[in-house]
Amino acid sequence: MADTISPRDAGWREDLRKKLSAKERTSIPRTRMTELPADYRVTCNGEVNQGLSQEQAVMEATRCLDCPDPQCVTGCPVGINIPGFIKNIERENFHDAAVVLKETSALPAVCGRVCPQERQCESKCIYNKMKKEPVAIGYLERFAADTERVSGVAARPACEAPNGMKVAVVGSGPASLSFAGDMAKRGYEVHVFEALHEIGGVLKYGIPEFRLPNEVVDVEIRALEQMGVRFQTDCVVGKTLSYDDIMNEGFDGMFVASGAGLPRFMGIPGENLVGVMSSNEYLTRVNLMGAGRPGWATPVIRGRRVAVIGGGNTAMDSCRTARRMGAEEVFIVYRRSEAEMPARVEEVRHAKEEGVTFLTLHNPVEYLGDENGRVRAMRLQQMELGEPDASGRRSPVAVEGAIVEVEVDEVIVSVGVSPNPLIPNSVEGLEVTRRGTLAVNDETLQTTLPLVFAGGDIVRGGATVILAMGDGRKAAASMDEAIKARRSNG
Ligand code: FAD
Ligand code: SF4
Repeated sequence: MADTISPRDAGWREDLRKKLSAKERTSIPRTRMTELPADYRVTCNGEVNQGLSQEQAVMEATRCLDCPDPQCVTGCPVGINIPGFIKNIERENFHDAAVVLKETSALPAVCGRVCPQERQCESKCIYNKMKKEPVAIGYLERFAADTERVSGVAARPACEAPNGMKVAVVGSGPASLSFAGDMAKRGYEVHVFEALHEIGGVLKYGIPEFRLPNEVVDVEIRALEQMGVRFQTDCVVGKTLSYDDIMNEGFDGMFVASGAGLPRFMGIPGENLVGVMSSNEYLTRVNLMGAGRPGWATPVIRGRRVAVIGGGNTAMDSCRTARRMGAEEVFIVYRRSEAEMPARVEEVRHAKEEGVTFLTLHNPVEYLGDENGRVRAMRLQQMELGEPDASGRRSPVAVEGAIVEVEVDEVIVSVGVSPNPLIPNSVEGLEVTRRGTLAVNDETLQTTLPLVFAGGDIVRGGATVILAMGDGRKAAASMDEAIKARRSNG
């Protein structure tokens, strides 16, 4: 974790502290971010959250008390120096704010948009103890990163001179990008192999542009290219290239960041009907393959009455995408209550504003088809909440005999993902857990093969962007140490 107050900035931060009292700072209300109006935004793919103006950002940064023991930092999985970057915003030194962010986060413009701050840094902010709304850390992170991007003066980290060693990376999602950046900084030649035709992993094929514009991700990818990272698309490791091919090409190590892209289904009758598909397939068709855009060849079913099964971010992205694809009625079907939903609170609010109907405490038990084998309805079991289960959440219990039938012509199943089995199955000697994830040493992220490290969703199952990025950084540090130790031992 970075020092929260470095000697370099202690002086001006003390001056800022004296400028306003804590009482004056805490009396400022939390800023609201401008959003596109709901009835307009469902007609297009424009980014819903519009960002903060400079005045809003400086005012919000003024709320931060620059706590001597900032608990917000303990809530950040990568330990961003939160008061350090926020106080730079208060003194209107936006470039330095971005520099502080980039000390620990490779993709602040992405994290500022998609991290669940309300459950992480913001949930630990001292304002919560005062029964006030926390400092809008996520909004400020996004502001600093966006301001840097549009300024054209990049806060690029310095890279060491080439050290003559090269490493391979499987996949190009956030775990990979963060690993690649850290290894390039250390002077390694980094080669990223990606199965799809686009770089970015879920940031591109999963999260829709109305939440995370592709341009934001592309700028980060271009920055890595400028640091010397080489990207190869349409290359499936385990098929196009084997592990042995990679090692025979003289790579000193390999980082596996192949994610968890294998959709789960519920195993209920009717899941094979036409019109029932996974959210992965649906979102990939729309986000990556242009389904629905004029002139693009890939089709996708455009339902009129669409059900999305699940309560996570993927479910919210799917139902909001369905609205933008012209669905008149969209239902979220979730077996627990809204309080247990894993999706970000903001995504739930946005989905409701966009007209999505929430059928909570309902669980599908069967899909019914028409004479052409197309889905026409779903049968839903009504549920109630029982005792807490292993996850700590109250478990859903079926209400006997309470079944309802709802007419639908498309169903998008979004009930979780499993790790892609290709790498675990094609590389001999890699140990796999019962959940199908790669087994690693918790401290170093080294797999059972000494030259192979792994991180992100292939190790954690479906998790978050920031945790994947944290793994990328951790694996880079341990692989660097392992390679150098091996070289110095001859
Ligand atoms: P991924 O991003 O999955 O990238 C893995 C890459 O590896 C893919 O590009 C894949 O094509 C490639 N690959 C796989 N196998 C091979 C192979 N054999 N050879 C070459 N390449 C291969 N998290 C949040 O924090 N906030 C959110 O709001 C959020 N929303 C989400 C919405 C959706 C729709 C989804 C699906 C996930 C969301 N997540 C969110 C979760 C988050 O995106 C993931 O946890 C994160 O992307 C995992 O990063 P990763 O680098 O491990 O893998
Ligand atoms: Fe600022 Fe809140 Fe962190 Fe304190 S806990 S440093 S007020 S963001």
